[in-house]
Amino acid sequence: MSGLILPGFGALGIIFCSILGLLVGSFINVAAIRIPLGQSIIAPPSHCMHCHRRLQIVDLIPVASYLLLKGKCRYCGIRISARYILGELIACAAFMLLGLWWGVGTELIVALVLASVLLTAALTDSQELIIPDKLIWFAIVSGVVLRLWIHPLPLWNYGLGFLAGGGVLYAVAWVGWKLYGKDVMGGGDIKLLAVIGLFAGLPAVVVTLMAASVLALGVTGLRALFGAYHRGEVIAFGPYLALGGLMGYLWAEPLAAGYRSWLLSLMGAY
Ligand SMILES: [Zn+2]
Repeated sequence: MSGLILPGFGALGIIFCSILGLLVGSFINVAAIRIPLGQSIIAPPSHCMHCHRRLQIVDLIPVASYLLLKGKCRYCGIRISARYILGELIACAAFMLLGLWWGVGTELIVALVLASVLLTAALTDSQELIIPDKLIWFAIVSGVVLRLWIHPLPLWNYGLGFLAGGGVLYAVAWVGWKLYGKDVMGGGDIKLLAVIGLFAGLPAVVVTLMAASVLALGVTGLRALFGAYHRGEVIAFGPYLALGGLMGYLWAEPLAAGYRSWLLSLMGAY
């Protein structure tokens, strides 16, 4: 583990991470709606999607504004989707978890950027079945810059992670295309796994793919069981990749270390 680590994250650190998570989550909500529409994420300022009235500062406080206004627009009274606070709450929880995991250190910056990219991709893919190229480019540029600066693993590991992440899903897509003559894997999924490899390294790509596949099969299986799955429905793989990616990023090293010591103990038994 390279990078600057200061001891004593403490209550102040947790509060800082949760507030930062709420603010970033609020921005991600806007970005997830506007990027697929090809709109700027800066201008125009936040407005009601229905009456187009510009929102005031008091309307823009994460979670609190939504609860105070009981989920309605202050001006026209139209219901605002609960997914707005969902994105903010997920970002808040993820930022707190990552703060506790890494403490105050440079790797925390990498973790928060990765979490933000993954959450944005999960939102756009679940809503619009798309992972925007703009988001991928932002992730690749920031990932390269951050990893050149901060790299607990050797640099080549992240490079290989990028290539393997893209390559593995591309191979799946190619086989699917040959077998079924259609796209079984979205191009956005391929790019997102490449990004996860760039941020988290080669071992994380394996953990991510396994975790995402198990999650997707499990959730789809449960939905089928309860009659909530419709035949031929397109399943957005992005949210599963995002959650699996976070697991891969956090657990690839501990899992690999556990696997190594398990192998060693097996060898020791003989
Ligand atoms: Zn309105």
